[in-house]
Amino acid sequence: MKPAPQPPDDSLQIRCPKLGHQIPFSYCRTENLGLPCSRIMFCWQPYFGVEAYLRRELTPEEWRDTFEKPVQSKVLTLVELIEQAQKSGAKSGRGEKK
Ligand code: SF4
Repeated sequence: MKPAPQPPDDSLQIRCPKLGHQIPFSYCRTENLGLPCSRIMFCWQPYFGVEAYLRRELTPEEWRDTFEKPVQSKVLTLVELIEQAQKSGAKSGRGEKK
């Protein structure tokens, strides 16, 4: 039986395409509100058995939340937040013309 893959320690850092600078695996492992970054397989596969490691570490729910939920764009999220603020402002009477 092969030993389970272990992630590299923080002395190994790779260039993050999102941030534009060097970061360790430990950052990528918890980048998404404690869950792994959704691109972690792509970024770390050249360095160790990241998929086998995460399949062992994550619960099925965490796996689904990390890799199988549609990624919402930041612009869409921002538009939704503005709409919510406008609706709550309308309910509270703010923004009404007198
Ligand atoms: S896994 Fe995510 S946070 Fe880590 S290097 Fe890749 S894009 Fe950046």
